[in-house]
Amino acid sequence: MNPLLQQIQHGGVIGAGGAGFPTYVKLDCQVEMVLANGAECEPLLYKDQVLMQRWAKELCGGMLIAMKQVGAARGVIGIKKKNADTIACLQAHLPAGIELLLMEDVYPAGDEVELVYQATGKRIPSGGLPKEIGVMVNNVESFINVFRAAQGVPVTETMITVHGEVRNPYTAWLPIGLSYREAIELAGGMTCSDFIVVEGGPMMGSVTDNLEQPITKVSSGLLVLPRTSRIAKIKTRSEQDLRRIGKSSCDQCSQCTSMCPRNLLGYPVQPHMAMRSLQVSGANNLSYALAAQACCECNLCTMWSCPEGLDPSRVCATTKRALRDEQKLLSPAQLQAKTKDVHPLRDYRGVPTKRLVRRLELADYALTKAEYRECELKVSHLEIPLSQHIGRPAIATVKVGDSVKKGQMIGQPAPDALSVAVHASLDGVVTAVGEKVVIECQPV
Ligand code: SF4
Ligand code: SF4
Repeated sequence: MNPLLQQIQHGGVIGAGGAGFPTYVKLDCQVEMVLANGAECEPLLYKDQVLMQRWAKELCGGMLIAMKQVGAARGVIGIKKKNADTIACLQAHLPAGIELLLMEDVYPAGDEVELVYQATGKRIPSGGLPKEIGVMVNNVESFINVFRAAQGVPVTETMITVHGEVRNPYTAWLPIGLSYREAIELAGGMTCSDFIVVEGGPMMGSVTDNLEQPITKVSSGLLVLPRTSRIAKIKTRSEQDLRRIGKSSCDQCSQCTSMCPRNLLGYPVQPHMAMRSLQVSGANNLSYALAAQACCECNLCTMWSCPEGLDPSRVCATTKRALRDEQKLLSPAQLQAKTKDVHPLRDYRGVPTKRLVRRLELADYALTKAEYRECELKVSHLEIPLSQHIGRPAIATVKVGDSVKKGQMIGQPAPDALSVAVHASLDGVVTAVGEKVVIECQPV
């Protein structure tokens, strides 16, 4: 591994936009284009806008480092046209070789496959990676973290939006390991008593009951919503109800498939077939179930398309898991063979975010932008997971009773494995070491 990639691994940089794939591995390729994903299409989240407005120099610096590493002559930042103020900030810092891709305000413009198609006119092969068509994609926050790691500054904080039923929605850098409860308290607390908390955005985020769990490097948002809200009802429906209602109420109208962004790009995803798999068994079940494999779980079919209020997205997700467990997934080549041309009506079937926000019943919340704030933190306790990334957990390098400083490595990458380092987010004393390193801090 070259010294830069080692710095990025030891700096703990991972994909901040979702799964947490280690960035040092992503950067170990040769491609023509480096693509920064600043599309931010989850309603209410504002973190990527803040990053591009206030850390544009570091973003472009991180992209230039990445471009040099992968041999790319071209850097592109994908951003929605509607974000004129952010575009102006970026334009003031754009170096030679980096340009903006201005995108329509539709969901899910920020899906990696959609973004790559818009930037290049090429589709990532089904089941394949962007590098196979000469592109390396990362979230804007990851490029900022690459820039910092190259200066010897590790990842100790993450930019996050807290919104919904809270007094003062905000976007801020928060230390990794801070509890969800404290992050919500920083928003002035909740404004409803019977609530759910969504980790991430309203479309793809998942519901949690555990407010003591820590913010990690992949945290992007915390949304407090009433338990009676449409989103809460859909996201908290039990697996049993999901299957029962799906079996009895799906009339196979195919609306979910007609509007599926992956299907419109020609990928072999047909959520109505996955729904049909609920109703049959044996070989038919398998052929229907395989229509779920290339689903990206964008949730559009559930939150927007289905007129019956069903949850084809979750059916696709559970079907994929079952196929994986039973080792029945198609190979990338088999998936690719099923890929068709881009649908001629694709350009007319984008779902405008404004209308999506209304459908999600989030319009009132959307009136308040979660502006950036420098939080006054009085943190006494951090729980920092040694596994925040895809791959093997970091190996603890501290023990109970050790004093640690902000930025100090507390977990080193597991040897000879996909793994990155983990660092203390604040000064303190280690009080437990297990799957997480617990640090009691001097309030700052
Ligand atoms: S849109 Fe709803 S009712 Fe129609 S096929 Fe899809 S899941 Fe079934
Ligand atoms: S979640 Fe639904 S709309 Fe999104 S890719 Fe999967 S099947 Fe298509």
